[in-house]
Amino acid sequence: MSRAVLAVASECAPVIKTGGLADVVGALPGALKLLGWHIRTLIPGYRPVMAQLEKAEVLAELPDLLGVSARILGARVGELELFVLDAPALYDRPGTPYLNEAGRDWPDNDLRFAALSLAGAAIAGGVLEMWIPELVHLHDWQAGFVPVYLRQLRLEVPTLFTVHNMSFLGLTRRERMLALGLPQSLFTIEGFEYWGQVSALKAGLTLATKLTTVSPTYARELMRPEFGMGLEGVMRLRAADLVGILNGIDTKVWNPRTDPAIVPFDHPAGKAPNRRALRAAFGLEPGPGPLAAVVSRLSDQKGLDLLIQALPVFLAQGGQLVLLGSGEKELENALLALAERHAGRVAVRIGFDEALAHLIYAGADAVLVPSRFEPCGLTQLYALRYGAVPVVARTGGLADTVIHANVAALATGCATGIVHNPGDAQALAEALLDLCALYSDRAVFTKLQQNGMAHPVGWEASAPRYAALYGELAALNG
Ligand code: ADP
Repeated sequence: MSRAVLAVASECAPVIKTGGLADVVGALPGALKLLGWHIRTLIPGYRPVMAQLEKAEVLAELPDLLGVSARILGARVGELELFVLDAPALYDRPGTPYLNEAGRDWPDNDLRFAALSLAGAAIAGGVLEMWIPELVHLHDWQAGFVPVYLRQLRLEVPTLFTVHNMSFLGLTRRERMLALGLPQSLFTIEGFEYWGQVSALKAGLTLATKLTTVSPTYARELMRPEFGMGLEGVMRLRAADLVGILNGIDTKVWNPRTDPAIVPFDHPAGKAPNRRALRAAFGLEPGPGPLAAVVSRLSDQKGLDLLIQALPVFLAQGGQLVLLGSGEKELENALLALAERHAGRVAVRIGFDEALAHLIYAGADAVLVPSRFEPCGLTQLYALRYGAVPVVARTGGLADTVIHANVAALATGCATGIVHNPGDAQALAEALLDLCALYSDRAVFTKLQQNGMAHPVGWEASAPRYAALYGELAALNG
């Protein structure tokens, strides 16, 4: 008999995805199932989610969920067992899960995700009758109020809060507390008060039974002011309850031997037809240097402004760059201008395109991740698996997953990529020169690629660690 866990999240791949959070939330149920845990995931019924549901079953009516009429639907999408919060007043809109069509946060995001959290607490409290979880696994600020509502409902259900990105604080004004059904008693330093505002992230951090984040290095970084977003003190206080568990990737979906979006391969040489297809897709001619790629949300975090500065030396060595991304308008424009300046050597596609992302990992010689901070990062893991050499900043999960090709690592044959100082355009430029030098030696470069392709990037190591935590938490249940 497997044991029941409710996951609460704002994204879950392949149903709805804007970034790595979705991949992880979508992969954990499969990984944990093998270890005896049955995860069902509660997500909002955004318009594209509702459009994908077949044979959804109404499991509960919530006529007044923070003033909104809602239902909890049960549905299966592939292997995933979902609870979908169907609340048209909150979720039946265009745009992304968080932004309107003009790229601005929905003004009622606080209510949209407070409602999700309250519905999660209600499920934990038995509103579905036929299914009661032993614990609740909360992902990021959108689920941060779950422990608050559990308290208010006088439910002692253990919770695990996973921080996928500390920079999203889930802030709202204190005047909104009444509308969100939040108690004044928790508007304190020990509760969810954050510089005079309310932070859903802080609620999760202070009130969840245990905490995880998505890499061991990020777990340490979060206790430092440069990364802690003002919550480093909270993290230090909770250090005994916090562990860093490295993300894995779904190696069934991301398998270069079977991926339907590419010409399958199991050796670096098999990347050639994909490289041709990738260049064709971006309108580039073959070049003498490496074909580097970026697949990314476009935000300050990702350090792409540094790449714009560092790129000329790389292009001068014959390198080319393809970039797929979407996000902040200013960065989009700067990157489009870069492509125009270096036509024929740099090509940029603005948008979100899952199939093209697969082709990029399969066709690129290198994948660049120059992030200023990176909780775990998944793109470098896809790159490893698809024989694209990752060039990454030494921060968070990037530091934990790539073995730098220094002389010692090359000599012992264990190098998988290039690691450089974060937040430093000069260091990135030097890393790109190293890439060109390694690329010019076929045998060395092929060995790097092979090492990467053989590097374990699935959930084998991390799923048992989540299972162990689930076991510990469930034992608190009595
Ligand atoms: P983050 O979660 O901060 O965005 P991660 O590296 O953890 O960064 O995860 C990013 C995920 O989103 C990867 O699966 C990546 O392939 C995907 N991704 C990012 N931008 C795009 C895009 N424009 N088109 C397709 N996939 C994208």
